[in-house]
Amino acid sequence: MYFPSWLSQLYRGLSRPIRRTTQPIWGSLYRSLLQSSQRRIPEFSSFVVRTNTCGELRSSHLGQEVTLCGWIQYRRQNTFLVLRDFDGLVQVIIPQDESAASVKKILCDAPVESVVQVSGTVISRPAGQENPKMPTGEIEIKVKTAELLNACKKLPFEIKDFVKKTEALRLQYRYLDLRSFQMQYNLRLRSQMVMKMREYLCNLHGFVDIETPTLFKRTPGGAKEFLVPSREPGKFYSLPQSPQQFKQLLMVGGLDRYFQVARCYRDEGSRPDRQPEFTQIDIEMSFVDQTGIQSLIEGLLQYSWPNDKDPVVVPFPTMTFAEALATYGTDKPDTRFGMKIIDISDVFRNTEIGFLQDALSKPHGTVKAICIPEGAEILPVFLNTNRNWNSPVANFIMESQRLELIRLMETQEEDMVLLTAGEHNKACSLLGKLRLECADLLETRGVVLRDPTLFSFLWVVDFPLFLPKEENPRELESAHHPFTAPHPSDIHLLYTEPKKARSQHYDLVLNGNEIGGGSIRIHNAELQRYILATLLKEDVKMLSHLLQALDYGAPPHGGIALGLDRLICLVTGSPSIRDVIAFPKSFRGHDLMSNTPDSVPPEELKPYHIQVSRPTDFKVSAH
Ligand code: ASP
Repeated sequence: MYFPSWLSQLYRGLSRPIRRTTQPIWGSLYRSLLQSSQRRIPEFSSFVVRTNTCGELRSSHLGQEVTLCGWIQYRRQNTFLVLRDFDGLVQVIIPQDESAASVKKILCDAPVESVVQVSGTVISRPAGQENPKMPTGEIEIKVKTAELLNACKKLPFEIKDFVKKTEALRLQYRYLDLRSFQMQYNLRLRSQMVMKMREYLCNLHGFVDIETPTLFKRTPGGAKEFLVPSREPGKFYSLPQSPQQFKQLLMVGGLDRYFQVARCYRDEGSRPDRQPEFTQIDIEMSFVDQTGIQSLIEGLLQYSWPNDKDPVVVPFPTMTFAEALATYGTDKPDTRFGMKIIDISDVFRNTEIGFLQDALSKPHGTVKAICIPEGAEILPVFLNTNRNWNSPVANFIMESQRLELIRLMETQEEDMVLLTAGEHNKACSLLGKLRLECADLLETRGVVLRDPTLFSFLWVVDFPLFLPKEENPRELESAHHPFTAPHPSDIHLLYTEPKKARSQHYDLVLNGNEIGGGSIRIHNAELQRYILATLLKEDVKMLSHLLQALDYGAPPHGGIALGLDRLICLVTGSPSIRDVIAFPKSFRGHDLMSNTPDSVPPEELKPYHIQVSRPTDFKVSAH
């Protein structure tokens, strides 16, 4: 392989990652995570006063003199104390003899959650007193010296994973919440997956990790952006919704494999799977096509996937946008279970049922249905065990239609059929939502539909390039973003029927959640200008730098961004992305710990030429 000399120098120090070493079974949550997903066990006690972690000690350490640092989890009858660190729990025996009175006093007086340092010998627990539920349950520490490093006041909640706390309280005292094993696991798993992604991208595939600015310019279209005032009157920066423009400019700059763990900002309020600031694994490559990006991502996920989960099977299945919408009523189908949408328009071509007739007579009018297995359990509406249909519409359905419906829908006794009539897309998306609602309902009644250990990846491709704008359906907006290239066979449609043009946009879906999206980009300035100005009616001046760059020998390129928070949330099975972010914002976008956003005194706003009129000021001046 030929490298310019500086490049070979740069890469000389790097070797292919070492194969995973076989380690003894450590037992604790974090150790098993490390063992399974990292190739080497790191040294946890280098550079610090402890010799070992609490969770690491086993019978193999018997007789060793150790120094441990940790938090007091609990104390029993002033004889035992359980010490905790990130790695686990260990039992410490509080000495009872006179000569160790000062050690006893320290360990008995320190409140729970105080942080202490103890030194002593690893001994085996008396026969019959081993605790098989505790990874360290065969041993205990016979303490010689103890030091109270810092005492803990009465806590707002107990640091025990099983003690339920409201999310608001957890966020207000996030630094305490982080002490839970679950949060430790989530953040450490996140760190390891990112590490392996870097390794895969940079060391195995020559990507370059490049930081891009977070103070930037407004981007036309897309998400609402946060503004940052500048000292120039009336001028603002914007926090970028993604490094999209920069990564494309890097391709023009010849950095042909870019990657970044990028912080992105969107002023859209929080939802369970959104945060105003979030992280993307952002990727861009030159001279690549859609299948190249897809294979890269499949390899990346396979490589970085924690080995304690079922391995990722590649290649991922692919579905077109049209098929996803028609079959699952959404562009992010949860393919872990059936209940697919079925077109039953033909059954009702000659119906006398008014609303069906009406729907079928309109353009794109359809009748669609889904069959909910055992649905009678949750909503006994349609079929009952006597095969008498239990629905107001049933009287108007002819016997032949009924038989045809049963055949098409493959209904069984106790199943429920949900039927809707209307315009294709609307009918599908309505049934798509009902499908998910019913799945949730069935699962709360104990029907197992989705295997929690299953990770079902899916590529959704062939999106339309444009969608009608929600607020004004006559205008177009980009389905992905305005830099997305049209499907090569649909370019001519841009000039005739742009609504029909498909794009080279692909989304990655995991268990019904969009965890990534990207596209092959437009690298021709003229086409980009036409799409921005003529079709999207955007102000091209805002993007003149990008248009100019495309004219200076921009290579063909494409990329993708994975939503890291969502991905880790799904991998760890967490209920919310806030559970995989160290310091997340609340549902309303607030930092409850520091009370942010906060007001700023008028003098501090002066340099920015900003004056605040509060809603109450308005009222006062209006009177
Ligand atoms: N920048 C895009 C996004 O944030 C991803 C991409 O097209 O690479 O959705």
